[in-house]
Amino acid sequence: MTAIVEELRRGRNLPEAALKELIECADYDEELFRQADEVRRQYYGTDVYIRGLIELTNYCKNDCFYCGIRRSNTQAVRYRLSRQDILECCREGYALGFRTFVLQGGEDGYYTDDRVCEIVSDIRAQYPDCAITLSLGEKPYESYLAFFKAGADRYLLRHETADETHYRKLHPPEQKLSVRKQCLWNLKKIGYQVGSGFMVGSPYQTTENLISDLRFLQELEPAMIGIGPFIPHHQTPFGEYAGGTLTLSLRMVAILRLMFPYALIPATTALGTIHPQGRELGLKAGANVVMPNLSPVKVRRLYELYDNKICTGEESAECRGCLEKRVASAGYRIVTARGDVACKSRREG
Ligand code: SAH
Repeated sequence: MTAIVEELRRGRNLPEAALKELIECADYDEELFRQADEVRRQYYGTDVYIRGLIELTNYCKNDCFYCGIRRSNTQAVRYRLSRQDILECCREGYALGFRTFVLQGGEDGYYTDDRVCEIVSDIRAQYPDCAITLSLGEKPYESYLAFFKAGADRYLLRHETADETHYRKLHPPEQKLSVRKQCLWNLKKIGYQVGSGFMVGSPYQTTENLISDLRFLQELEPAMIGIGPFIPHHQTPFGEYAGGTLTLSLRMVAILRLMFPYALIPATTALGTIHPQGRELGLKAGANVVMPNLSPVKVRRLYELYDNKICTGEESAECRGCLEKRVASAGYRIVTARGDVACKSRREG
């Protein structure tokens, strides 16, 4: 059971058939998780980076079949944060030790390029030592460039699935995988540290789809890779579908760690939602980032991408404290450094 895991670790790659075996068969898990943790310790020690997530809007012009804030969900109660709200979240976050702020939201026309640039440059001016991460969906090249010039360092845009046919089963026809991929290449070209990723166990997903996701990530070489289980939202077309499992999600985290030893991989909120110790298990399987919520408590429940999302009731300080304990209980340590990507060649050879 160890040979295939070792081969993946050594070569950071595996042929199709071996990957399929690893993804589908539970027999390798123990060894897979053990080696993923070893590699994570080689590159990052026990450090876990924290990113303060600010969910700025749940308005969205897109209609992803899986997402609770899709435009067709007429039952969603919509909100957006003002520049002052956002800066207040940053102030609170900075005091709690956050040195990365992630501004995430639906694709909301209210946040014009000028508005986004204004917000980014304000944060940049007030917190020169912090990383600013944006996760605002698909934009033209010029918009990404303007945000970058205003001071944004990183951009998160999951490709969701790298397979055309599968992509069309998860999105309406006006949303195109080719556009999403082009956005990722544009972001890289501009100089962002780019994060991509996919959902595990999304409707109609096959092992071959997951392999395509890995192959696409090998091409893209993102600094950050976010994955989490698909979780149904009752007001979406996929409301009655089964969600992704803990086991498969953890297995994919471990495979990613061995393929991309230097990557920043979060133990996601979705993982914490499907199992009380989901995030701790994610860390033990190779994840090295957690993204606690910094959004104002009054809007947290409304940024409802999926059912039963955790951490919607607590104040930011409580979230931070709770995670500190959880990370420690798993045997790691939260650090307040900005947490840029480790050099790809570090500690090799
Ligand atoms: N509009 C931004 C942010 C999307 S929300 C963008 O397009 O990037 C962030 C991520 O949540 C998505 O990329 C998706 O992978 C995930 N997500 C959405 N709905 C989900 C669901 N029902 N279950 C699990 N993850 C979901």
